[in-house]
Amino acid sequence: MTPIPIHVQSSLKQHLLQAQVLAARQSPPPQVTPSPDFHDLVDSSDGPWGCWPWIGGLSPQGYGMTCVRRAGFSVATGAHRVAYYLDTGYWGVGNRGPVIRHLCHNHACCNPRHLLVGSRASNVWDSQMRRLGVDLVAVRMLVEQPQRRNRARAAA
Ligand SMILES: [Zn+2]
Repeated sequence: MTPIPIHVQSSLKQHLLQAQVLAARQSPPPQVTPSPDFHDLVDSSDGPWGCWPWIGGLSPQGYGMTCVRRAGFSVATGAHRVAYYLDTGYWGVGNRGPVIRHLCHNHACCNPRHLLVGSRASNVWDSQMRRLGVDLVAVRMLVEQPQRRNRARAAA
């Protein structure tokens, strides 16, 4: 595997910190109830760091689509948004607010480890990293599991 440049690691760390700030601003989390079959429609068989594709209906852009109950209404929304909410409590503020990014570029993926809230600018950064061949899921694994990396280094 090609080494991941330090500046990419520190950029992603910044993005992860910004996501924590956004989630903290929504504490307590808004009340959003996923559909009862939500977990049945996420295929997590690829393991903790693999892609978890949505096996329900998809939007024309390939995003998983589901419904939630929010403030007494049933609302159609992206399945990845629900997956991110269940993991972080972050729900977002509609079309003009932050977006839930796919670090894996797989629109149907619902693995919270592959999802990160960010601005449209950070979405552009994701695309630049993709063009440079940087695997942002691997970068996240690296910056979130330094103890594992140190063990691997000690073993080498
Ligand atoms: Zn994924």
